Amino acid sequence: MNILVTGGAGYIGSVVVEECLRDGHKTFVYDNLVKGHRENVAEEAVFIEGDLLDGNLLGKVFRENEIEAVIHMAAYSLVGESVGNPAKYYQNNVVAGLSLLDAMRDCEIKKIVFSSTAAVYGEPEKQPVEESDRLAPTNPYGETKLAFEHALRWYENAYGLHYASLRYFNAAGASEKCGELHDPETHLIPLVLQAAIGKRSHVEIYGEDYPTRDGTCVRDYIHVIDLARAHILALKILDEKSAIYNLGCGGAGYTVREVIDVATEVTGLEIPVRVADRRAGDPAVLIAGSDKIKNDLGWNPEFQDLRLIIESAWKWLRNHMKKEEAKSKVS
Ligand code: UDP
Repeated sequence: MNILVTGGAGYIGSVVVEECLRDGHKTFVYDNLVKGHRENVAEEAVFIEGDLLDGNLLGKVFRENEIEAVIHMAAYSLVGESVGNPAKYYQNNVVAGLSLLDAMRDCEIKKIVFSSTAAVYGEPEKQPVEESDRLAPTNPYGETKLAFEHALRWYENAYGLHYASLRYFNAAGASEKCGELHDPETHLIPLVLQAAIGKRSHVEIYGEDYPTRDGTCVRDYIHVIDLARAHILALKILDEKSAIYNLGCGGAGYTVREVIDVATEVTGLEIPVRVADRRAGDPAVLIAGSDKIKNDLGWNPEFQDLRLIIESAWKWLRNHMKKEEAKSKVS
């Protein structure tokens, strides 16, 4: 298939592009590089620098390349930032998203896989969280992702669009070439690894008074390659229907302290830790019920062990640092 991946230069997007290529698809990346990195885009993919609000460019790209399906990953994704600046999130995650849907409609493209999030559930009433559970986002990030999911449902109803909405839990780890590099970095695993190598003085634990096994928050970490593979499977249902799926490994998840302990073992380095206040809006536990995608599509995550996830992130970080050092010596 000819597939266009919006946000395909981002952390998860670039791994999705690798998996699309591996599955034999002709893959186009559409990214404005506000958050993405051009060098993350696989050489075999066609890169187009563009903004989702530019409907004319989108239409031209769709038509010239006979795009048949879109994987829509371009979005802002920081919970804290979204609370302080909801306008930025509504503009990009909703308004720009609708511009994409309308360009698709003009070009009669009827298949879309959408990167959604566990944040659509807010504070879940039970664990593991299932797709049919209450949707009650507690921040503009989750709210804007949910708004787009709702738009998809109505566009399906009126225009015959088929969509797969994938609600990610905690994506982590790296492929051989692509890893997590945000600016600013707010995610636990890259922060912990940066503290291990001394790029940060310490890592903060946001609260140790949660009702969990060691008082720190529990999350469901999913390897970015397993996450990416789910997109490829999801594409295959879109001839017939739409669906919404959670994506996580389930089980008991891992506490913040368990993440730090595993990272200490993997790196063999001391990771200085300080306990800080809770971060606003953090639910105590978030575990995905992912039976639906396993049963419907046969999705079966390969890297369920946190050690494998952290090992891949660690390998990528060290390679990345070597490359950066080499670059700075040349310049
Ligand atoms: N966390 C932490 N210290 C940090 C960053 C994150 O204790 O410096 C905790 C955070 O409270 C959450 C977990 O680690 O319970 C995962 O946070 P992250 O930001 O990676 O992902 P989120 O769960 O917010 O999507």
